[in-house]
Amino acid sequence: MSTTTRVECPNCESVGTLILVNPDYDGPYACWKCHNVYNIVIRAGQVTSAVPTTREEVDRKRTLDKPSALSE
Ligand SMILES: [Zn+2]
Repeated sequence: MSTTTRVECPNCESVGTLILVNPDYDGPYACWKCHNVYNIVIRAGQVTSAVPTTREEVDRKRTLDKPSALSE
């Protein structure tokens, strides 16, 4: 079962959605409108933190987590 969580962009206030398997989530979120990237924390389906980051940072972290993953 998955849940749809609404995430409001701190920059442009556009609301996007994340489809989550778990009600808790720590990870990147990219705004569909302004393309800002955040590291967000979701607890029980609510966004509790959104820290601005960059796509490069996300890619680097992803590469460290999964050394064999190919970047786009
Ligand atoms: Zn935005």
